[in-house]
Amino acid sequence: MNTNNPSTHTHTTRDYMALEEQYGAHNYHPLPVVLHRGEDIYVWDVEGKRYFDFLSSYSAVNQGHCHPRIVRALKEQADMLCLTSRAFYSDALCEYEEYMHQFFGYDRILPMNTGAEGVETALKLARRWGVVKKGIPNDRVKVICCEGNFHGRTVTVITMSNDPSSFDKYGPLTPGFIRIPYNDTEALRRVLEEQADEICAFIAEPIQGEAGVYVPDDGYLKSCYDLCHAHHVLLIADEVQTGIARTGRMLCSEHDGVRPDIVILGKALGGGVLPVSACLADDEIMLNIMPGEHGSTFGGFPLAARVAVEALRVVQDEHLVDNAQRMGEIFRDEVRRIQSPFIAQVRGRGLLNAIVTTPVAGRTAWDLCIRMMEKGLLAKPTHDHIIRFAPPLTITEPALRQAIEIIRETFEEMSR
Ligand SMILES: *Cc1c(COP(=O)(O)O)cnc(C)c1O
Repeated sequence: MNTNNPSTHTHTTRDYMALEEQYGAHNYHPLPVVLHRGEDIYVWDVEGKRYFDFLSSYSAVNQGHCHPRIVRALKEQADMLCLTSRAFYSDALCEYEEYMHQFFGYDRILPMNTGAEGVETALKLARRWGVVKKGIPNDRVKVICCEGNFHGRTVTVITMSNDPSSFDKYGPLTPGFIRIPYNDTEALRRVLEEQADEICAFIAEPIQGEAGVYVPDDGYLKSCYDLCHAHHVLLIADEVQTGIARTGRMLCSEHDGVRPDIVILGKALGGGVLPVSACLADDEIMLNIMPGEHGSTFGGFPLAARVAVEALRVVQDEHLVDNAQRMGEIFRDEVRRIQSPFIAQVRGRGLLNAIVTTPVAGRTAWDLCIRMMEKGLLAKPTHDHIIRFAPPLTITEPALRQAIEIIRETFEEMSR
Protein backbone atom coordinates (compact mmCIF):
# COMPACT_ATOMS: atom_id res chain seq x y z
CA MET A 1 0.00 0.00 0.00
CA ASN A 2 1.20 3.46 -0.79
CA THR A 3 1.42 5.21 2.54
CA ASN A 4 1.93 8.54 0.82
CA ASN A 5 -1.51 8.39 -0.75
CA PRO A 6 -2.38 12.10 -1.02
CA SER A 7 -6.11 11.41 -0.83
CA THR A 8 -6.03 10.27 2.80
CA HIS A 9 -7.44 12.90 5.08
CA THR A 10 -4.38 14.01 6.94
CA HIS A 11 -4.14 17.11 4.77
CA THR A 12 -5.74 20.42 5.64
CA THR A 13 -7.06 23.00 3.21
CA ARG A 14 -3.69 24.77 3.33
CA ASP A 15 -1.74 21.58 2.56
CA TYR A 16 -3.84 20.80 -0.48
CA MET A 17 -3.58 24.33 -1.80
CA ALA A 18 0.19 24.09 -1.42
CA LEU A 19 0.21 20.89 -3.52
CA GLU A 20 -1.63 22.57 -6.36
CA GLU A 21 0.54 25.65 -6.05
CA GLN A 22 3.61 23.47 -6.42
CA TYR A 23 2.54 20.80 -8.92
CA GLY A 24 -0.36 22.22 -10.92
CA ALA A 25 -0.18 24.67 -13.79
CA HIS A 26 -1.12 28.15 -12.64
CA ASN A 27 -3.94 28.71 -15.13
CA TYR A 28 -6.65 29.27 -12.49
CA HIS A 29 -7.06 31.37 -9.36
CA PRO A 30 -9.57 29.46 -7.21
CA LEU A 31 -11.21 30.62 -4.01
CA PRO A 32 -9.28 29.17 -1.03
CA VAL A 33 -11.59 26.20 -0.43
CA VAL A 34 -10.78 22.54 -1.13
CA LEU A 35 -13.87 20.51 -1.94
CA HIS A 36 -14.22 16.83 -1.20
CA ARG A 37 -17.86 15.82 -1.57
CA GLY A 38 -21.08 17.06 -3.16
CA GLU A 39 -24.78 16.33 -2.89
CA ASP A 40 -27.51 18.24 -4.71
CA ILE A 41 -27.03 21.97 -4.00
CA TYR A 42 -24.32 21.43 -1.39
CA VAL A 43 -20.58 20.75 -1.39
CA TRP A 44 -18.34 19.93 1.58
CA ASP A 45 -14.69 20.86 2.02
CA VAL A 46 -11.92 18.59 3.30
CA GLU A 47 -12.59 19.82 6.81
CA GLY A 48 -16.25 18.80 6.63
CA LYS A 49 -17.71 22.31 6.30
CA ARG A 50 -20.83 22.54 4.11
CA TYR A 51 -21.47 25.22 1.47
CA PHE A 52 -24.24 26.22 -0.90
CA ASP A 53 -22.77 25.87 -4.39
CA PHE A 54 -23.82 29.04 -6.21
CA LEU A 55 -21.49 28.48 -9.16
CA SER A 56 -22.60 24.96 -10.14
CA SER A 57 -19.32 24.50 -12.04
CA TYR A 58 -20.29 27.30 -14.44
CA SER A 59 -23.74 25.73 -14.93
CA ALA A 60 -22.47 22.23 -15.61
CA VAL A 61 -24.25 20.98 -12.47
CA ASN A 62 -27.81 22.14 -13.20
CA GLN A 63 -29.22 18.82 -11.94
CA GLY A 64 -27.33 19.08 -8.61
CA HIS A 65 -24.18 17.27 -7.48
CA CYS A 66 -24.04 13.49 -7.79
CA HIS A 67 -27.68 13.21 -8.82
CA PRO A 68 -28.59 9.61 -7.85
CA ARG A 69 -30.31 8.83 -11.15
CA ILE A 70 -27.44 10.23 -13.24
CA VAL A 71 -24.80 8.48 -11.14
CA ARG A 72 -26.76 5.22 -11.42
CA ALA A 73 -26.92 5.55 -15.22
CA LEU A 74 -23.17 6.23 -15.23
CA LYS A 75 -22.40 3.18 -13.09
CA GLU A 76 -24.70 0.83 -14.97
CA GLN A 77 -23.24 1.82 -18.31
CA ALA A 78 -19.70 1.76 -16.88
CA ASP A 79 -20.21 -1.92 -16.02
CA MET A 80 -21.62 -2.61 -19.48
CA LEU A 81 -19.52 -0.72 -22.07
CA CYS A 82 -17.65 2.58 -21.74
CA LEU A 83 -15.94 3.29 -25.03
CA THR A 84 -16.22 2.03 -28.58
CA SER A 85 -14.87 4.91 -30.70
CA ARG A 86 -16.98 5.71 -33.74
CA ALA A 87 -15.40 2.92 -35.73
CA PHE A 88 -18.40 0.85 -34.57
CA TYR A 89 -21.99 1.60 -33.61
CA SER A 90 -23.13 1.47 -30.00
CA ASP A 91 -26.71 0.92 -28.86
CA ALA A 92 -26.29 3.75 -26.33
CA LEU A 93 -25.28 6.32 -28.97
CA CYS A 94 -28.02 5.30 -31.40
CA GLU A 95 -30.65 5.72 -28.68
CA TYR A 96 -29.13 9.04 -27.57
CA GLU A 97 -29.27 10.38 -31.13
CA GLU A 98 -32.96 9.51 -31.46
CA TYR A 99 -33.67 10.95 -28.00
CA MET A 100 -31.98 14.26 -28.84
CA HIS A 101 -33.94 14.53 -32.09
CA GLN A 102 -37.21 14.04 -30.23
CA PHE A 103 -36.20 16.28 -27.33
CA PHE A 104 -34.94 19.33 -29.25
CA GLY A 105 -36.62 18.85 -32.63
CA TYR A 106 -33.51 19.11 -34.83
CA ASP A 107 -32.91 16.55 -37.56
CA ARG A 108 -29.50 15.50 -36.25
CA ILE A 109 -26.90 15.68 -33.49
CA LEU A 110 -23.12 15.76 -33.82
CA PRO A 111 -21.73 14.61 -30.46
CA MET A 112 -18.50 16.03 -28.99
CA ASN A 113 -17.06 16.32 -25.47
CA THR A 114 -16.16 19.81 -24.26
CA GLY A 115 -17.96 23.06 -24.97
CA ALA A 116 -15.01 24.45 -26.93
CA GLU A 117 -15.12 21.40 -29.21
CA GLY A 118 -18.83 21.97 -29.69
CA VAL A 119 -18.06 25.53 -30.76
CA GLU A 120 -15.28 24.37 -33.12
CA THR A 121 -17.71 21.86 -34.62
CA ALA A 122 -20.39 24.51 -35.13
CA LEU A 123 -17.85 26.74 -36.88
CA LYS A 124 -16.83 23.87 -39.15
CA LEU A 125 -20.46 23.03 -39.92
CA ALA A 126 -21.17 26.67 -40.74
CA ARG A 127 -18.04 27.15 -42.87
CA ARG A 128 -18.73 23.93 -44.75
CA TRP A 129 -22.34 25.00 -45.37
CA GLY A 130 -21.07 28.40 -46.52
CA VAL A 131 -18.74 26.84 -49.07
CA VAL A 132 -20.94 23.98 -50.24
CA LYS A 133 -24.44 25.47 -50.10
CA LYS A 134 -23.91 29.21 -50.28
CA GLY A 135 -21.03 29.04 -52.73
CA ILE A 136 -18.55 31.21 -50.81
CA PRO A 137 -14.95 30.65 -52.01
CA ASN A 138 -13.22 28.43 -49.44
CA ASP A 139 -10.51 30.98 -48.61
CA ARG A 140 -12.99 33.85 -48.12
CA VAL A 141 -15.61 32.37 -45.80
CA LYS A 142 -16.24 34.44 -42.66
CA VAL A 143 -18.08 34.21 -39.33
CA ILE A 144 -19.40 37.16 -37.33
CA CYS A 145 -18.89 37.05 -33.56
CA CYS A 146 -19.56 39.45 -30.67
CA GLU A 147 -17.47 41.60 -28.40
CA GLY A 148 -17.36 40.25 -24.86
CA ASN A 149 -18.00 36.69 -26.01
CA PHE A 150 -16.75 33.58 -24.28
CA HIS A 151 -16.82 30.44 -26.40
CA GLY A 152 -13.92 28.44 -24.89
CA ARG A 153 -10.15 28.14 -25.04
CA THR A 154 -8.91 26.51 -28.26
CA VAL A 155 -6.84 28.62 -30.64
CA THR A 156 -9.64 29.18 -33.15
CA VAL A 157 -12.14 29.91 -30.40
CA ILE A 158 -9.88 32.44 -28.61
CA THR A 159 -9.53 34.21 -31.96
CA MET A 160 -13.12 35.38 -31.45
CA SER A 161 -12.36 36.84 -28.01
CA ASN A 162 -11.52 40.50 -27.47
CA ASP A 163 -10.23 39.81 -23.94
CA PRO A 164 -6.39 39.97 -24.14
CA SER A 165 -6.03 37.50 -21.24
CA SER A 166 -7.65 34.94 -23.57
CA PHE A 167 -5.65 35.47 -26.78
CA ASP A 168 -2.50 37.45 -25.99
CA LYS A 169 0.89 35.83 -26.73
CA TYR A 170 -0.56 32.63 -28.11
CA GLY A 171 0.86 33.24 -31.54
CA PRO A 172 -0.99 33.53 -34.84
CA LEU A 173 -4.74 33.22 -34.61
CA THR A 174 -7.35 31.92 -37.06
CA PRO A 175 -8.45 34.16 -39.93
CA GLY A 176 -12.03 34.66 -41.00
CA PHE A 177 -13.77 36.39 -38.09
CA ILE A 178 -15.52 39.75 -37.94
CA ARG A 179 -16.27 41.04 -34.43
CA ILE A 180 -19.16 43.41 -33.75
CA PRO A 181 -20.63 44.87 -30.53
CA TYR A 182 -23.07 42.59 -28.66
CA ASN A 183 -26.70 43.68 -28.33
CA ASP A 184 -26.35 45.93 -31.37
CA THR A 185 -28.58 44.89 -34.27
CA GLU A 186 -27.53 47.93 -36.31
CA ALA A 187 -23.91 46.77 -36.25
CA LEU A 188 -25.04 43.36 -37.46
CA ARG A 189 -27.16 44.93 -40.19
CA ARG A 190 -24.20 47.02 -41.44
CA VAL A 191 -21.80 44.08 -41.64
CA LEU A 192 -24.38 41.93 -43.36
CA GLU A 193 -25.23 44.63 -45.88
CA GLU A 194 -21.56 45.14 -46.73
CA GLN A 195 -20.20 41.59 -46.66
CA ALA A 196 -23.01 39.01 -46.51
CA ASP A 197 -21.70 37.36 -49.70
CA GLU A 198 -18.72 36.03 -47.79
CA ILE A 199 -20.39 35.42 -44.41
CA CYS A 200 -21.64 31.96 -43.47
CA ALA A 201 -22.76 32.55 -39.88
CA PHE A 202 -23.27 34.78 -36.87
CA ILE A 203 -22.38 33.17 -33.52
CA ALA A 204 -23.70 34.54 -30.22
CA GLU A 205 -24.55 33.59 -26.67
CA PRO A 206 -28.24 34.32 -25.94
CA ILE A 207 -26.97 35.75 -22.62
CA GLN A 208 -23.23 36.42 -22.25
CA GLY A 209 -22.32 34.30 -19.21
CA GLU A 210 -18.61 34.88 -18.66
CA ALA A 211 -18.98 38.53 -19.62
CA GLY A 212 -20.92 38.84 -16.37
CA VAL A 213 -24.41 37.56 -17.18
CA TYR A 214 -24.91 40.32 -19.71
CA VAL A 215 -28.58 40.08 -20.76
CA PRO A 216 -29.33 41.69 -24.15
CA ASP A 217 -32.52 43.64 -24.89
CA ASP A 218 -35.71 41.65 -25.36
CA GLY A 219 -36.03 40.67 -28.99
CA TYR A 220 -32.30 41.05 -29.75
CA LEU A 221 -31.81 37.42 -30.76
CA LYS A 222 -35.01 37.50 -32.85
CA SER A 223 -33.82 40.59 -34.74
CA CYS A 224 -30.46 38.91 -35.32
CA TYR A 225 -32.19 35.79 -36.58
CA ASP A 226 -34.34 37.80 -39.00
CA LEU A 227 -31.37 39.81 -40.28
CA CYS A 228 -29.29 36.69 -40.76
CA HIS A 229 -32.02 34.94 -42.67
CA ALA A 230 -32.63 37.93 -44.90
CA HIS A 231 -28.95 37.63 -45.89
CA HIS A 232 -28.76 33.83 -46.16
CA VAL A 233 -26.51 33.60 -43.08
CA LEU A 234 -26.80 30.99 -40.31
CA LEU A 235 -27.48 31.86 -36.67
CA ILE A 236 -25.39 29.78 -34.26
CA ALA A 237 -26.54 29.94 -30.63
CA ASP A 238 -23.85 29.02 -28.11
CA GLU A 239 -26.14 27.61 -25.40
CA VAL A 240 -23.31 25.82 -23.58
CA GLN A 241 -23.96 27.85 -20.41
CA THR A 242 -27.51 29.16 -21.02
CA GLY A 243 -29.03 25.89 -22.24
CA ILE A 244 -30.59 22.93 -20.38
CA ALA A 245 -33.10 24.95 -18.29
CA ARG A 246 -30.61 27.39 -16.73
CA THR A 247 -32.48 30.55 -17.72
CA GLY A 248 -36.01 29.28 -17.10
CA ARG A 249 -36.41 27.86 -20.63
CA MET A 250 -34.98 24.62 -21.97
CA LEU A 251 -32.95 26.78 -24.38
CA CYS A 252 -32.43 30.46 -23.67
CA SER A 253 -33.21 31.22 -27.35
CA GLU A 254 -36.85 30.35 -26.57
CA HIS A 255 -37.20 33.61 -24.61
CA ASP A 256 -37.10 35.32 -28.00
CA GLY A 257 -39.05 32.63 -29.83
CA VAL A 258 -35.96 31.81 -31.89
CA ARG A 259 -35.00 28.42 -33.33
CA PRO A 260 -31.28 28.86 -34.15
CA ASP A 261 -29.85 27.11 -37.21
CA ILE A 262 -27.16 25.50 -35.08
CA VAL A 263 -27.39 25.02 -31.29
CA ILE A 264 -24.28 24.22 -29.25
CA LEU A 265 -24.85 22.41 -25.96
CA GLY A 266 -22.34 21.37 -23.31
CA LYS A 267 -21.87 21.73 -19.57
CA ALA A 268 -25.17 20.48 -18.02
CA LEU A 269 -25.70 18.05 -20.91
CA GLY A 270 -23.20 15.91 -18.99
CA GLY A 271 -25.36 15.98 -15.86
CA GLY A 272 -22.46 17.26 -13.77
CA VAL A 273 -20.51 14.04 -14.16
CA LEU A 274 -18.89 13.92 -17.63
CA PRO A 275 -17.86 16.35 -20.36
CA VAL A 276 -20.59 16.00 -23.00
CA SER A 277 -21.21 18.53 -25.77
CA ALA A 278 -23.17 18.51 -29.00
CA CYS A 279 -24.17 20.46 -32.06
CA LEU A 280 -27.79 20.25 -33.17
CA ALA A 281 -28.79 21.14 -36.73
CA ASP A 282 -30.97 20.08 -39.64
CA ASP A 283 -29.98 18.00 -42.68
CA GLU A 284 -29.26 21.03 -44.91
CA ILE A 285 -26.37 21.91 -42.56
CA MET A 286 -25.40 18.61 -40.98
CA LEU A 287 -25.17 16.42 -44.07
CA ASN A 288 -22.41 18.48 -45.71
CA ILE A 289 -19.82 16.76 -43.53
CA MET A 290 -19.09 13.28 -44.85
CA PRO A 291 -17.48 10.23 -43.21
CA GLY A 292 -13.90 10.95 -42.21
CA GLU A 293 -14.23 14.72 -42.44
CA HIS A 294 -14.76 15.44 -38.73
CA GLY A 295 -14.71 13.43 -35.53
CA SER A 296 -13.61 12.74 -31.99
CA THR A 297 -12.46 9.51 -30.38
CA PHE A 298 -14.66 10.06 -27.35
CA GLY A 299 -17.49 12.05 -28.98
CA GLY A 300 -20.76 10.24 -28.29
CA PHE A 301 -19.12 7.44 -26.29
CA PRO A 302 -21.60 5.05 -24.68
CA LEU A 303 -21.00 6.36 -21.16
CA ALA A 304 -21.64 9.96 -22.26
CA ALA A 305 -24.67 8.97 -24.32
CA ARG A 306 -26.41 7.25 -21.37
CA VAL A 307 -25.49 10.06 -18.99
CA ALA A 308 -26.79 12.77 -21.33
CA VAL A 309 -30.14 11.04 -21.80
CA GLU A 310 -30.55 10.62 -18.04
CA ALA A 311 -29.41 14.22 -17.44
CA LEU A 312 -32.20 15.48 -19.72
CA ARG A 313 -34.80 13.10 -18.26
CA VAL A 314 -34.00 14.46 -14.80
CA VAL A 315 -34.45 18.04 -16.04
CA GLN A 316 -37.86 17.07 -17.39
CA ASP A 317 -39.07 14.84 -14.54
CA GLU A 318 -38.04 17.33 -11.86
CA HIS A 319 -39.54 20.31 -13.71
CA LEU A 320 -36.27 22.21 -13.56
CA VAL A 321 -37.30 24.68 -16.28
CA ASP A 322 -40.21 25.91 -14.14
CA ASN A 323 -38.19 25.82 -10.95
CA ALA A 324 -35.38 27.88 -12.50
CA GLN A 325 -37.92 30.43 -13.69
CA ARG A 326 -39.70 30.71 -10.29
CA MET A 327 -36.60 30.62 -8.06
CA GLY A 328 -34.91 33.15 -10.34
CA GLU A 329 -37.71 35.62 -9.85
CA ILE A 330 -37.56 35.23 -6.07
CA PHE A 331 -33.78 35.62 -6.17
CA ARG A 332 -33.81 38.87 -8.14
CA ASP A 333 -36.75 40.34 -6.13
CA GLU A 334 -35.05 39.65 -2.81
CA VAL A 335 -31.53 40.65 -3.80
CA ARG A 336 -32.80 43.92 -5.30
CA ARG A 337 -34.16 44.76 -1.83
CA ILE A 338 -30.75 44.49 -0.17
CA GLN A 339 -29.53 47.89 0.95
CA SER A 340 -25.82 47.99 0.20
CA PRO A 341 -23.54 50.53 -1.48
CA PHE A 342 -21.73 47.56 -3.10
CA ILE A 343 -24.69 46.77 -5.34
CA ALA A 344 -24.75 48.64 -8.64
CA GLN A 345 -27.07 46.28 -10.50
CA VAL A 346 -28.82 42.91 -10.19
CA ARG A 347 -29.50 41.14 -13.48
CA GLY A 348 -30.18 37.77 -15.01
CA ARG A 349 -32.78 35.31 -16.20
CA GLY A 350 -33.97 32.17 -14.47
CA LEU A 351 -31.16 30.99 -12.20
CA LEU A 352 -28.36 32.65 -14.19
CA ASN A 353 -27.94 35.89 -12.25
CA ALA A 354 -25.27 38.38 -11.27
CA ILE A 355 -24.70 41.27 -8.94
CA VAL A 356 -22.60 44.03 -10.47
CA THR A 357 -20.63 45.54 -7.58
CA THR A 358 -18.87 48.82 -7.01
CA PRO A 359 -15.87 48.69 -4.67
CA VAL A 360 -16.46 50.27 -1.26
CA ALA A 361 -13.56 51.32 1.01
CA GLY A 362 -11.13 49.24 -1.04
CA ARG A 363 -13.24 46.09 -0.70
CA THR A 364 -13.90 44.26 -3.94
CA ALA A 365 -16.08 41.46 -5.31
CA TRP A 366 -13.31 39.02 -4.36
CA ASP A 367 -13.53 40.14 -0.69
CA LEU A 368 -17.31 39.73 -0.77
CA CYS A 369 -16.90 36.21 -2.16
CA ILE A 370 -14.40 35.34 0.58
CA ARG A 371 -16.86 36.52 3.24
CA MET A 372 -19.73 34.57 1.65
CA MET A 373 -17.47 31.52 1.59
CA GLU A 374 -16.79 31.92 5.31
CA LYS A 375 -20.54 32.05 5.83
CA GLY A 376 -21.11 28.90 3.77
CA LEU A 377 -21.90 30.04 0.21
CA LEU A 378 -19.63 29.67 -2.81
CA ALA A 379 -19.75 32.17 -5.65
CA LYS A 380 -16.95 33.56 -7.79
CA PRO A 381 -16.27 36.98 -9.34
CA THR A 382 -16.07 37.32 -13.10
CA HIS A 383 -14.30 40.38 -14.56
CA ASP A 384 -13.25 41.56 -11.06
CA HIS A 385 -16.47 43.38 -10.13
CA ILE A 386 -19.31 41.05 -11.14
CA ILE A 387 -20.45 38.11 -8.99
CA ARG A 388 -22.41 35.35 -10.70
CA PHE A 389 -25.09 33.48 -8.72
CA ALA A 390 -26.09 30.22 -10.38
CA PRO A 391 -27.11 27.44 -7.97
CA PRO A 392 -28.19 24.00 -9.16
CA LEU A 393 -31.72 24.24 -10.60
CA THR A 394 -32.95 21.74 -8.00
CA ILE A 395 -32.79 24.38 -5.26
CA THR A 396 -35.96 24.67 -3.15
CA GLU A 397 -37.49 27.93 -1.98
CA PRO A 398 -36.50 27.48 1.72
CA ALA A 399 -32.90 26.71 0.74
CA LEU A 400 -32.85 29.63 -1.67
CA ARG A 401 -34.07 31.97 1.08
CA GLN A 402 -31.34 30.72 3.46
CA ALA A 403 -28.75 31.40 0.79
CA ILE A 404 -30.16 34.86 0.12
CA GLU A 405 -29.82 35.58 3.87
CA ILE A 406 -26.09 34.83 3.63
CA ILE A 407 -25.80 37.14 0.63
CA ARG A 408 -27.80 39.87 2.42
CA GLU A 409 -25.73 39.64 5.63
CA THR A 410 -22.48 39.72 3.68
CA PHE A 411 -23.39 42.74 1.59
CA GLU A 412 -24.78 44.62 4.62
CA GLU A 413 -21.92 43.78 7.00
CA MET A 414 -19.13 44.47 4.54
CA SER A 415 -20.37 48.00 3.91
CA ARG A 416 -20.34 48.93 7.60
C1 LIG B 1 -18.04 27.23 -20.75
C2 LIG B 1 -18.42 27.72 -22.08
C3 LIG B 1 -17.81 27.21 -23.25
C4 LIG B 1 -16.63 26.26 -23.22
O1 LIG B 1 -16.92 25.04 -22.61
P1 LIG B 1 -15.70 24.09 -22.14
O2 LIG B 1 -16.41 22.82 -21.77
O3 LIG B 1 -15.06 24.76 -20.98
O4 LIG B 1 -14.79 23.94 -23.29
C5 LIG B 1 -18.28 27.64 -24.47
N1 LIG B 1 -19.26 28.54 -24.55
C6 LIG B 1 -19.86 29.07 -23.46
C7 LIG B 1 -20.96 30.04 -23.63
C8 LIG B 1 -19.45 28.68 -22.18
O5 LIG B 1 -20.01 29.22 -21.11
